[in-house]
Parts: sequence; C-alpha cells; structure tokens
Amino acid sequence: MSQTINHSSVDVVVLGMGVTSGTVAVELAKAGYKVVGLERGPHWDFASDFFYTKYDEWGIGFMRKFDINLAITTATLRNNSNQFALPVRRNTIGYSGQIISEGWGVGGMAQHYGGVMGRYGPWVYQTYSDTVSKYGLGFLNNAVPHQDIIDWPMTYEEYMPYYEQWEKMWGVCGTNEGPLLPGFTDSNYSYPLPPPPFTPVGTAFKNATEALGYSPFPGPIALASQSFVNAYGVGVQQCMYDGWCAGPCNYTCETGAKANSDFRTVPAAISSGNFELRTNSYVFRLDTDSSGKIIDVRYYDEQGNVNIQPGTVFFNGLWGFNIVKLMLNSGVGTPYKPTTATGSLGRGIAMGVPPPVRTVTGILENIGGNGYPCGNGYGGAYAIRDLCDDNFDHTGLDFIGGAFPEAGFYPGGGPNNFAFYADQPTPAMIGSTFKASLKDAFLPTKTLAAFAPSGVSPPVTDWYVDLDPHYTDRYGDPLPRLTIDWTMNGVNCANYLAPKCADILTKMGATNVQTTPTVTTASHNPAWQAHMRGGARIGSDPATSVFNKWQQCWTSQNLFSAGEICKPMGDNTTAGTHPIGPMSYVAAEGVKNYLKSPGPLV
Ligand SMILES: Cc1cc2nc3c(=O)[nH]c(=O)nc-3n(C[C@H](O)[C@H](O)[C@H](O)COP(=O)(O)OP(=O)(O)OC[C@H]3O[C@@H](n4cnc5c(N)ncnc54)[C@H](O)[C@@H]3O)c2cc1C
Ligand code: SF4
Repeated sequence: MSQTINHSSVDVVVLGMGVTSGTVAVELAKAGYKVVGLERGPHWDFASDFFYTKYDEWGIGFMRKFDINLAITTATLRNNSNQFALPVRRNTIGYSGQIISEGWGVGGMAQHYGGVMGRYGPWVYQTYSDTVSKYGLGFLNNAVPHQDIIDWPMTYEEYMPYYEQWEKMWGVCGTNEGPLLPGFTDSNYSYPLPPPPFTPVGTAFKNATEALGYSPFPGPIALASQSFVNAYGVGVQQCMYDGWCAGPCNYTCETGAKANSDFRTVPAAISSGNFELRTNSYVFRLDTDSSGKIIDVRYYDEQGNVNIQPGTVFFNGLWGFNIVKLMLNSGVGTPYKPTTATGSLGRGIAMGVPPPVRTVTGILENIGGNGYPCGNGYGGAYAIRDLCDDNFDHTGLDFIGGAFPEAGFYPGGGPNNFAFYADQPTPAMIGSTFKASLKDAFLPTKTLAAFAPSGVSPPVTDWYVDLDPHYTDRYGDPLPRLTIDWTMNGVNCANYLAPKCADILTKMGATNVQTTPTVTTASHNPAWQAHMRGGARIGSDPATSVFNKWQQCWTSQNLFSAGEICKPMGDNTTAGTHPIGPMSYVAAEGVKNYLKSPGPLV
C-alpha cells in the first residue's frame, strides 16, 4: 500500500535532470549547497543501455524507448480555441506526425538530440524594440498580426560571458562565427573545440556563399571533436564518427562525445558529495505558503508512494509544457487568459523550427564521398547568418527574421533501413524493392542538396498553453493543452528567400535546380516540437512574463526555471538548446544570490 514519505529539507531541489537542471545542480553542489535532483526516468547505464542496444533501430527510432511513454503523460493539441484538442498518443515521424517525444531519464531529451549548436544573434534578444525602432510598429503588426513579442530582459552582450562559460563546459565545436555575431570577430575567443572535418558538400557551400558575398562559418555542434576535461573535471571522449547520432532516430551516444547532462554535469554533481539523485521520481505538485513561496515539492516514487521534499529554493527544469503544467496544477503564477490577452503563464508559446513550406533542391554530381551513414550527427557543414534575423534590410517586406541556410552535414543517423518520413510504408520504402535501391543510395554519383528557408514563428496572442478540461495523465492531473499553429511570417520569408537559396545552389554547381511554387497560406500544425518556446517567458514586466532576468519567478521568489519555454523569442534553427545553457548559468547565479540574501532579485 502506498504511503507518504517526508524528507529532510535541503538548500536546493532541482526538478528534472536534463540540460538546464544538470547545470544548476552541479553549480550549486560544487558551491557547497545541499542539492536533491528529482528525475522521473532512470539513470541510464552507459554500457548495458547504450552500448548493447544502441543499434536497435526499430526500438529506438519507431518505438522511442529512450523517450517517455506517452501513456504516462502527454499533451493535447489544437490549432485554435474553437477546436476540441486531442491528446498526442503515439510518436510517429515526420511533419505529418509527432517526431519528438520528451526526455526520460538522466540526460533528458539531449540523450538523443542531434547536437546542432549556434548562439542566437543580438536581434533575437531585442526583436521587439529593434523592429519597432527601425521599421515602426505598423510594420511589425502587419508582418505578425496579433503579435505578442517582448524583448528578453538581457541583451546578447550581457549573455556573452555566460555563453562562453557554457560552451567551454559543454564542449561546443566550431570556429568564430564571422562578422555577424559580435564577440567572435576580433576577440581571441572561438568555440572551444575545432570543427570536425568538412564534407565535400559543406566545402562547396562555403565556396559558393563566399563568392556570393556571404560570410560562411562551420556549423557548430556539441559532438566533441577532441577529448577534453571540462570545468567540473569531467573527462569527455572524442567522437568516433560512427554516424549513429542524427537523422530521425537520433540515437544515444555510448562514448559520451555527444554532450548532455549525463556526460558533462551530473557525474561532477554526484562526486561533489553534496548532491543526491533520485530517479523514477515523478514530480506532480509544488506546495506554497500564504506569501506564494514554495515550501515543498511532491512526487511519486516507483512504488507509488507520495514523497514530500521541502527546500529553500526550487529549480523547475522539467522542459517545455511540463514546466507550465506543474505551475498551473500547483496554482503558481498568473494563468494567461486568451479572451483578454492578460496573465502570463502559458502565454507566448511558439514553435522554434518551422515546417519546410518551400524547398529548393539541386543535384551535385560527382562531388565525392559516399552516402554511407558515417561521420557524426550534424558535423561537417557550413552555415551562413546573412539571411537570418535582421541581417538584411526588411524595408517593404512582409515578415520579420529570416532563415539559416546550412549545408554539408554528414549523412549520420544509423542505417535508416526503415523509411521514416511517411505515415504508411510503401513497397519503395521497405522490402525487396527498397533493398534493390540501396546499391544506388549508398554509392551515389549524385548528391541531392536542399534548402527550406521558412521563417521564424513569433508569439501571437492566439496561442497559449492551459490545462485540458477533458484529459488527464496517468495520475489524474489535467494534461497541458497546446493551442498553437503557424503564421504567415514563416511562409512570407520562404517566398522571399527561396530564389536566393536557388542562387546558392546554382553557384555550388548544382544541376536541375528546382524551387517549389510560391505559397499563399500557412499550413496547420499537427505536432509539438522539441523547440517549444514562450509559455513561461522571462522578461522585464510581470504582466507579460513569468520569470525575471535571473530566471526567478515574479510571484514565487524561491522558484527558478530555465529552458526554451522561458525564451521570449528565438530564431529558426534547430540549435535552440545552445541559448538555454547561458540561461542555466544565469539561473544558477540567481539561486546563489537568493540563498545569500533571500528576496526578489530585481
Ligand atoms: C530527437 C531530438 C533531436 C534534437 N536535436 C537537437 C539539436 O540538434 N540541437 C538542439 O539544440 N536541440 C535539439 N533537441 C532539443 C534538445 O534535446 C532540448 O532542447 C534539450 O534537451 C532541452 O533541455 P531541458 O533541460 O530543457 O530538458 P530535458 O533535457 O528534456 O530535461 C528535462 C528532464 O525533466 C524530466 N521530467 C519531465 N517531467 C518530469 C516530472 N514530472 N517529474 C520528474 N522529472 C520530469 C525529463 O525526464 C527530463 O529528463 C532535440 C531533441 C530531440 C528529442
Ligand atoms: S557519431 Fe555521434 S553517436 Fe557516434 S561517437 Fe560521435 S557523437 Fe557519439
């Protein structure tokens, strides 16, 4: 029979054990504070979980065995307030389905992410004020009807030292990012590890974009190109380029070259002697006192017992809508009301990576290399920033931001013997017909190069997260309900940039360059993403944000958080994890300051 278990109070209770929570846990434990980490999944075993089962393409790719089981908890989804939201029940693949589940176990989602990195540029941090001062509020409202954009509470320049601290600890590979990202250009600083060798397609992209006057740079990744020991004394092995860590499966990495908390922060937190990790611990409630301060967190252990863990400070690192769900279910924060566009919790939700509404393709002949999935997840490429953010003049255009062309990734991602980008396999994707095609697929004389320059998806007042009135998780708590879709901003950007991408492909020497037709309507969104931002924003105004610049909750001063869901705005790369590293360090500093002198930090 289940019982209630009361634990002794600690300095810091960290919820989740992924990217942000691992960073906060190690920072506080190393500083001498007593820290408890609560993670709903297991602590994966390096050898038996990853080494022996890594090559289980069906189990990992289709059955998502390193993700949470959606029968335990999921989210419901609809495209507007008039629809009935349905729960996402199955992880399928591709934009017509649900590719991304959530983290499960120490390491979180990043146990099998792609590792694409890249800082946000200065425009992302001040999108609202930069756009309004340069082009006027009318321009912004026309480009993004119902826009609900707020500036970050800190500028890019203020985040720079935190970026640097995190990149060194995480082991980001790359060089400086050229003239479009301040702080790299003429300082001595570059990403700490060198980029992996470039692929022939990456080199062709570099040469072509340089010739067209752009500023290419190696696409940054977090798959260690060299062995190193990080700031916490954690030894990291070099990537062995076995090619299993990207593609639709996004396999786990048994060498630890792919950065996640299990291979960068958690081992050091444990060896500090100040950190206790409790796995199989499902957090479901924060309890508050009359002033709104959190007094304890409640969670279920593996036996179904209710555990009560008191603490001085709480860090909510549960990722995405889980962060919002816990706060809404606990009555912490001010829920967003879409009818009046007031309140802040759940407000400003947006997707980070837009769908490929227009694609530009071309054939590169005899470019060298073969198609076997060797290399690593997303190394070997070059990228340009010239067509993203406000790095080109938007006068007279009907969108904000831009796209982030990048080319030359290794074809990593395992053998992909199952065809993933379809709801139903056809004979061409499976069986003897498919096998017969493998010879040509793996020994190509022709390589397809493609760009999909869809634009950024900014927050609007119509989209939000609230609690679903119809569906609950396994424990009886309401599921988070996502009301979310795509705007024309991404489409208009794709229409504008597609010809420029075609120019790049032509310059690369591609033949048969083709651009899909101009698009006039936005598609509907059928899935959630790993890169969900907004929903629990940081900001300078408690009316529109949930946390202040120290990632401290406006209404519960001993609650801190970090993650993409706390971002007011982003760009449209898949590198959304990179900026949450600095946010975690800001939060860790905020927690330390609070422990020294409790109270609002702003
Ligand atoms: C297939 C895939 C590919 C990706 N590729 C990239 C990429 O190339 N580049 C990039 O930048 N990002 C990528 N991402 C996204 C990246 O993995 C996430 O942005 C990052 O891991 C988020 O870190 P986090 O700390 O916010 O959350 P997580 O790392 O997910 O950590 C949250 C933790 O909280 C735990 N948790 C949740 N709810 C509870 C609860 N109720 N009780 C207890 N514990 C709980 C979870 O189990 C998890 O371990 C990818 C993600 C996926 C899934
Ligand atoms: S290719 Fe990917 S999975 Fe393989 S060692 Fe390198 S980072 Fe790890």
